[in-house]
Amino acid sequence: KENVLSQFFIGSIDQGTTSTRFIIFDGTGQPVASHQHEFKQHYPEPGWHEHDPNELIASAEVCVSKATATFKELGHDIADIRAIGITNQRETAVVWDWETGEPLYNTIAWPDTRTKGIARDLKDKEERLGLNIAQMTGLPLSTYPSSVKLVWLLHHDEKVMEAYEAGRLAFGTVDTWLLYNFNGKDNEYFVTDTTNASRTMFMNLHTCQYDDTLLEFFGIDKTKVHLPRIVPSSDARAYGKMVGGSLGGMRITGCLGDQSAALVGQQGFSPGSAKNTYGTGCFLLYNVGEKPVVSKHGLLATVAYDFGGHRKPVYALEGSVAVAGSGVKFMMNNMGFITHSHKISELAASVDDNGGCVFVTAFSGLFAPYWIDDAKGTIFGITQHTQRGHIARATLEAVCFQTKAILDAMELDSGHKLAALAVDGGMCNSNLCMQTQANITGINVDRPAMRETTALGAAIAAGFAVDIWKEFDELKAINQKDRMIFTPDINREESAKMFKKWTRAVEMCRGWLD
Ligand code: ADP
Repeated sequence: KENVLSQFFIGSIDQGTTSTRFIIFDGTGQPVASHQHEFKQHYPEPGWHEHDPNELIASAEVCVSKATATFKELGHDIADIRAIGITNQRETAVVWDWETGEPLYNTIAWPDTRTKGIARDLKDKEERLGLNIAQMTGLPLSTYPSSVKLVWLLHHDEKVMEAYEAGRLAFGTVDTWLLYNFNGKDNEYFVTDTTNASRTMFMNLHTCQYDDTLLEFFGIDKTKVHLPRIVPSSDARAYGKMVGGSLGGMRITGCLGDQSAALVGQQGFSPGSAKNTYGTGCFLLYNVGEKPVVSKHGLLATVAYDFGGHRKPVYALEGSVAVAGSGVKFMMNNMGFITHSHKISELAASVDDNGGCVFVTAFSGLFAPYWIDDAKGTIFGITQHTQRGHIARATLEAVCFQTKAILDAMELDSGHKLAALAVDGGMCNSNLCMQTQANITGINVDRPAMRETTALGAAIAAGFAVDIWKEFDELKAINQKDRMIFTPDINREESAKMFKKWTRAVEMCRGWLD
């Protein structure tokens, strides 16, 4: 069967926070051709983070055109690509004119904290009204979901307000914006998948539909704004097809938010399996099965994936760390400690330990399980002895400590201890970081050889819709070769001592004055 599977292909567009990729996989899950393109990050004010929506589309087009050219050079036929899957940065809000398709504002990217005040007011409102929004959506009120970003736009941008009043405002997450554009700006394909919709806070987690109570709570009049239709993550018809370009006419049949895609790509299909993706931010998803588990310990509840047909949506508990790879980039771009991201390990290895430094990388507050909006990045324990290497180490450790805090919360919510953690994302390339992760959590860290699990997950969703695979069991051989397992190599006391210091540091970085 392997021979037959390598004869056909699935394309996957991965629109991330800092770059876009297009990867063409064969039926065995091996990438055959790919291209990656970084695009500009806009930080117009402290705490603000935007992208140009048209640049996101252009970056996808460049990737498609370059990767398909390579694919052809390798002697393959474009007609053998059976379907296209899409995966994207989540929560990032895009607004455009329903009639012209022109963006009305830059995207407000997920780490943006300009909505701090709005989130605070909404929390008060929730209390006043006696509502439990987290019970309905799985998400606590914070700066993070797309809903608060839309509320900000409606309060602060004239063009957005005007479009809203005129009933011409289209609002979507990045998946919707991509799909709409790939379909030649056809409003017929104004859709979002369940996983992306579950990050807006407009969707009720239990029904997987928009909820009037929620829209009303956020002050959104649904007659004035166009909201994308929610469809399953794997669907042969809902997503339309690519119009123009080297993939013109090709069907798009899968769509998943990036973290969901990584879970699917790691084949976290059974309740109790978990993955952690170390990209710009870091995201841990833990499969809880067909019923949502609303966290009591600061985690999010979300739709893990929704393969449609006879399959029910599957839910996950999620913990996110706002700053992971972006901490490495900060070391490079702002501090000038390194010239390339991968050099962080070398710098961190130039010292034996963190030398007493703890770096709470709370550049945009702290996310799960702490949810401290007003925390600011703080380095504790600096002495005359402190070297760059200590700070580099502390930067990597910050992600590992937050992951440990999330795993502890998941254990409390689910009542189960995780046996091993599957990892992926750019920062998992750091062996030092992954070894530290194993040491701090005391469990094995399991890293696949092929790390593009996010793109692979979208390809899997697309492949299911066109019947390349019918059962999850058929995927078993995919990406299992040459996995690397990091086992803890320090004792529990040592590890507990490090974590205690971290916990103290977190407490001390609260409430810094703006
Ligand atoms: P995203 O999809 O969020 O853009 P990626 O999964 O591509 O993120 O990961 C990119 C991030 O990983 C960057 O912030 C980069 O600094 C970090 N990174 C990449 N390679 C390494 C490495 N070898 N060691 C540490 N960090 C790395």
